[in-house]
Amino acid sequence: MSDEAERKMRFLYALRSKGVTDARVLGAMETVDRGVFVTGLFAERAYEDMPLPIACGQTISQPSVVGLMTQALAVSARDKVLEVGTGSGYQAAILSQLARRVYTVDRHRRLVREAEARFAALGLANITALTADGSFGLPDQAPFDRILVTAAAEDPPGPLLAQLRIGGIMVLPVGQSDAVQSLIKVTRGERGYDYEELRPVRFVPLVEGLGQD
Ligand code: SAH
Repeated sequence: MSDEAERKMRFLYALRSKGVTDARVLGAMETVDRGVFVTGLFAERAYEDMPLPIACGQTISQPSVVGLMTQALAVSARDKVLEVGTGSGYQAAILSQLARRVYTVDRHRRLVREAEARFAALGLANITALTADGSFGLPDQAPFDRILVTAAAEDPPGPLLAQLRIGGIMVLPVGQSDAVQSLIKVTRGERGYDYEELRPVRFVPLVEGLGQD
């Protein structure tokens, strides 16, 4: 077996052993090479199941957490998805394999620019990346079938709840930024919102306003 094939097999095995079992999600994670999204010092660790530092003091999430969040989001091929917290662009690239259209926003212009270059290089044409404070969502594109937040807020931001379509699902970490947070799945029904606690997680905080770079 080639080194690359072996690396891929280990990567997928680690995902499965952490509970990522959805075949579509595993397929997307097999297709999108995480190595493209981790550059510099940590590039050689791209296939390990750990979060890694990226530019602007942010992190690319742990692959198994990406897998579990994507799985919980239950994306279908007709869905329009909003991701808050583009970071490296890896999670958006995974979503792009499963959804019709992906909007991803980050408060750091530099991260958005770099992620856009990666999407273009990989030929991922159904992702739109924007610099914005994602706690306000994207009113122009709302409502969304699915919303994924990859930075932790103390509570689910009101505008995001409002921009979720009835029948829609939002997955997000909530809790204090310096503590272990809870991954929550919010389902919007005809009469209101249903909340389910999934697992403890640790994310960088959702920060107000735009970043310096
Ligand atoms: N999903 C990313 C990892 C996200 S790290 C990946 O796959 O690599 C969290 C990101 O959320 C950071 O890039 C940070 O800049 C961004 N962020 C924090 N607060 C934000 C806000 N209010 N609006 C938009 N992005 C925000």
